Amino acid sequence: MEILNFIPIYNMGICLENNIYIKREDLLPFSFGGNKARKAFLFFEDIEKGQYDYVVTYGTSSSNHCRVVSNMAASRDIPCLIIGPEEKSQMTYNLKMMDLFGAKQIYVPVQEVHDRIEAEMEQLKKNGYHPYFIEGGGHGNIGTQAYVNCYQEICEFEKENGLHFDYIFFASGTGTTQAGLVCGQLLNHDKRKIIGISIARKNPRGRNVVLESIRSYLKYCNIDISEKDIENATIFLDQYTDEGYGSQNDEIQRTIHDVLIRYGIPLDPTYTGKAFYGMQEYLKTEKISGRNILFIHTGGTPLFFDYLNMVTEFKIIS
Ligand SMILES: *Cc1c(COP(=O)(O)O)cnc(C)c1O
Repeated sequence: MEILNFIPIYNMGICLENNIYIKREDLLPFSFGGNKARKAFLFFEDIEKGQYDYVVTYGTSSSNHCRVVSNMAASRDIPCLIIGPEEKSQMTYNLKMMDLFGAKQIYVPVQEVHDRIEAEMEQLKKNGYHPYFIEGGGHGNIGTQAYVNCYQEICEFEKENGLHFDYIFFASGTGTTQAGLVCGQLLNHDKRKIIGISIARKNPRGRNVVLESIRSYLKYCNIDISEKDIENATIFLDQYTDEGYGSQNDEIQRTIHDVLIRYGIPLDPTYTGKAFYGMQEYLKTEKISGRNILFIHTGGTPLFFDYLNMVTEFKIIS
């Protein structure tokens, strides 16, 4: 199955005194979509080109990346091995699907993950396989390329509809999605603010990882862009992380319920709900109004259902 050429952008109307649009990457047509599907399509092109016959990747039991990769591997009859930290292993819908797709899974203490991956790759080679390793979250230049492509789609949408987004917001984790969007902007010489809402990492590390991915991609493509332009284009906000990965305060929950009821769009507490909440807060505190704003829905729908399973009581929303 080929990736759809264009993932829709919808107008959510006026919200917080701005015109909010949403790009539904969660509707990418494979395994509940999301940014991990967009990245995985490119990784599997590389896998086919190199005639690899085994896929190894890393992630927790709630990883959207591991769900998509194990699904895509199974659909092509390629065996898949997932190595993850045992500390973060719990029953989730993503894990159930990894089981369903027949992915082999190994959970070890987090400090042993790196060595275990190397050992498993070696063993596979000894057993006659040609294994391919995908970094956790689809990190790396190929993952970055996926979001350069996404940025191109956004520019095409603007051209066709005669409008310009002043801001782009989204959930930033490993930073590959952000790196791709920023590289897209740098290649197009656009002026707008691309704002990654950190879901866990604090600065300076969080932003530095994004910067490293940007530099790595530009080098890989042999493109020369000044360090100053790269720095100026990289905005990574770490004030909405709450308690870190997977945490959810009352405001994030309220945002999730509100967006679901008013727009029929599911968000999750780890990524998209936190990012949407962060965007709202940022628009308020910075007193931004009358602008065209694009929110990128990066997926994670199975986490929305994990959230529903966990909630025992729904508070009334004002
Ligand atoms: C992984 C993920 C992100 C973060 O993407 P990065 O490229 O790692 O920054 C955001 N949203 C969802 C739903 C994800 O699964």
